[in-house]
Parts: sequence; C-alpha cells; structure tokens
Amino acid sequence: MIPNNNDRNEVEKYFDIFQRLSQNYMDQLKDQKVAKLDVALEAASLSDAGLSLAACVRQLETEIIPQLSAQRGPRYWGFVTGGATPIATMADWLVSTFDQNLAKAGDSIADLVERQAIEWLCELFLLPVKFKGLMSTGATASNFLGACLARQFAGTKQNIDVAKQGVYDLDVDIFCTTPHASMVKSLGMAGLGQNNFTQVQALHNSEAMNATHLQQLLEQSSAKAIIVIASAGTVTTTDFDDLVTISALCKKHDAWLHVDAAFGLFERLLHSNEQTKTRGIESADSITLDCHKWLNVPYDCGVFLTPHLQLLEDSFDVPAPYLLNHGNEPDFMSIGIENSRRFRAFPVWLSLLAYGREGIRAWVESNIRLAGELAQWIDLSADYELVHPCQLNVVLFRPNCVGLDQQNADQKTAEALTAINQDGRLFLSPGKWQGNSIIRIALSNWQTTTQDIEIAKQVLSEIPS
Ligand SMILES: *Cc1c(COP(=O)(O)O)cnc(C)c1O
Repeated sequence: MIPNNNDRNEVEKYFDIFQRLSQNYMDQLKDQKVAKLDVALEAASLSDAGLSLAACVRQLETEIIPQLSAQRGPRYWGFVTGGATPIATMADWLVSTFDQNLAKAGDSIADLVERQAIEWLCELFLLPVKFKGLMSTGATASNFLGACLARQFAGTKQNIDVAKQGVYDLDVDIFCTTPHASMVKSLGMAGLGQNNFTQVQALHNSEAMNATHLQQLLEQSSAKAIIVIASAGTVTTTDFDDLVTISALCKKHDAWLHVDAAFGLFERLLHSNEQTKTRGIESADSITLDCHKWLNVPYDCGVFLTPHLQLLEDSFDVPAPYLLNHGNEPDFMSIGIENSRRFRAFPVWLSLLAYGREGIRAWVESNIRLAGELAQWIDLSADYELVHPCQLNVVLFRPNCVGLDQQNADQKTAEALTAINQDGRLFLSPGKWQGNSIIRIALSNWQTTTQDIEIAKQVLSEIPS
C-alpha cells in the first residue's frame, strides 16, 4: 500500500476498522486469559510491496491481538499496573490524530495544556504552586531527571556546573533506604554510579527509612554535597518514609531531597494534609509521579515536579540560535530529556477534566478497600499466609509454608505463582520480603470490582497447595 490520507472514504474505512478492533478488544477483555505465557511471532521477512489493509487486519486479528495480555483489564495485578479509562484511551488515540510536538511553545496551545495538566495534578495532590514540571515517559525517566537535577545542585555547592563540566570532580554523598530499581538505574545513568550510595537502615519490619540513622549519617558526612532519596510508597510493603523528619534533616544539612512517589502520592487523595503518609513532601526538592499507574492513563506517562525550575533548565538547556524561547517559562525541551515530545499530557488533562478529584479518588479508594478485603481473606485462609499487613493497595502472601525450610518454602511459593498465572484468570508477580519468596498483588486498575476479588478467592481456593 501507499499511504493515501486525502481520500475521505479511505480515512473512514480506517476509522471503521480501528474502531472495531478497539471495541472488540475492550469487549472481550474480561473473558480472555489475563496473561499469555507462551507467545510466538512467526518469523517473516520484510515485505517489499506491503500488504493490503485487509491482509494487515487479518494478521492482527489472528496472530497479534489474541496473544496480547489483558494488562488494561481488571485482574492484571502484577507489578503496579494501571488500566486506561475510556476517556484516557480515546484521548490517547487523539494524541496521534493531533500529532503535536511539545518541544517548544509558540505555534500551538498544546504546551499550555501540558502546563495546566501539571497545575491540576498539583491541585489534585494539594501540592504548593511552587511545584513546576513536565510530563515524562514514566517514573524511571522522572527519577533520572531527579538524579540529574540533584547532581546539578551538588555541583553548585562546589563550583562545578555539572551539565557543562561533567561529574568527574563531584564530591557527593547519596543516602537512601529502599530505592526503586529504576532509581538505582538512574544514579548510574546520571554518572553518579549505581553502587555509589549509602544505604540508610530501614525501620523494623519495614522498608521505610530509619530517620535516626539518616541523622547520624548526615552528621558524619564530610562530602561537599549531600543527596537524600526518599520513598513515598515502596513497591513491596508500600511503606512511606517519614518526610517531615527527613525534610527537616535535609534542610538542616543543606541536603537535596528527591522523593519517589510514583504511586504513593495517590494516598494523598484519601487523607487531609495533616494525616497523609506523604506529609512533608511539600518540602521536597523534586518528586516523581507516575500517571500510567494509578491515574489510569495509557503508557507511557509520568511526571516530574520541582520548585527549582531554573536549576532544571541549567541541567538540560542547550542554547541553539534557531530555537528561540517564547514564553515566560522555559520550553519543555530545555527542562527535560527529549527535544521532540509526544502530547502525552493530553490524556492526563482530559482525565482530570472529565473525572475530577472525586472520580479519581473513587477508584483509588476502591482499590485500597478491595486489597484490604483480599488480604483479610488470605489471612484467614488455611492454605495461605499473609506475609505482611496490607497497608495500601498491595497484598503480600505465599502458600502456607508452616514447617518448611526456606528452600522448600520458596519452591512451593514459585510453584503456586506459576499455577495461578497459568490458570489465566489472574496475573500476579513475584517478590521478596525479608529474604523469602512471596507473591504480590497490586490493585491499581479503575475497573477492578468486588466480583474480581471473588474470582481471585475462587482461583486461590482451587490451586493445589
Ligand atoms: C513503577 C515505579 C517506578 C518505575 O516506574 P516506570 O513507570 O515503570 O518507569 C519507580 N518507582 C516506583 C516507586 C514505582 O512504583
């Protein structure tokens, strides 16, 4: 085929076909196996002339679509996985229709929409207006921005402009307790080193930082600059670092504070500023947030927030004569990784417009309540052990391992997980807690209901243990 977009009939044909594909996919989401564990793509060489539309669609329908996971569905509970609400899904479709490039302002309203989406997110989470930022491809990219900004700060403390001069002479101590793997990766990418941090002790039975130990480390540090990386919602136990104490310590020691709140920030929707576990996050120097998790917009979409916009620009801006800045605020390409950028803010903006605070709070609250219910059922079940109290939207469990040594317990756990995922009504992911293999359930899909929890109980009852 040769592209032909001018013929109106031709365009309508595409709309019809792709609408049907979308609709069918969403309709059968709940009935298919959640994960496709044995997928295969038939080897084929590149076609010279290309296929007809009908032939392409046939291949999609027979080979590709049946082998996709039901990740956007209500019972994909691995990792921390959001679905995509109807409006966010269709908005994302429009993103391609509009095909805007948000590198720079000056020729479209699109960048203003991104700025407003950021403002609305700050309102949603009751964050002060000093926070500015940009959309990213996800929490990994936001953590990378956090690492780059932190190293720029570290440079200013020792007369090094890291963006210009590099990190070679940088003298910096980095403290964190349970960094997400993407944070460790980001430290590597930022030239700070994946292994170059000091692990602050965790509180007893928790992944949260022991602030007393942090205080000792801060007092002992002789580095010219200090970076503290805190977590608001760790992926295993969903623990929150005490950001009130930690931010006060950081202030006292002039240390930089980055907070990874990829999904934990949504806890703020349920509590007042006084009661939220993220209290103190207002004092952070930068914050990571994911939208493709609990906000339920399609991949890929995250947010990076900081009150230090100038420092962010110092970290990323490269002056180029043909790229004049238009507005009062720096262009997005001057404060982030990419030059050309997708209009990924649009599904966020439209979701916030359509669902409002109440709509979003409703599914977050429901996920947390359902996780609690399932945890309670597991705790009472003779066949399973609840490994850790459910504190938010994550349930940690394993089969009953009483009397088994660790090796056998781990093996029994792995076998149970395989059996659950092969059954196909659920998809769960593995984890480790205090050295033991566990199974993790994380609820963050807007569509999950009590019915899905009942199905899960059914599956767990039927799996031999
Ligand atoms: C998911 C997650 C990340 C990584 O996010 P991606 O969106 O996969 O890049 C980082 N930190 C935390 C706490 C997360 O839950």
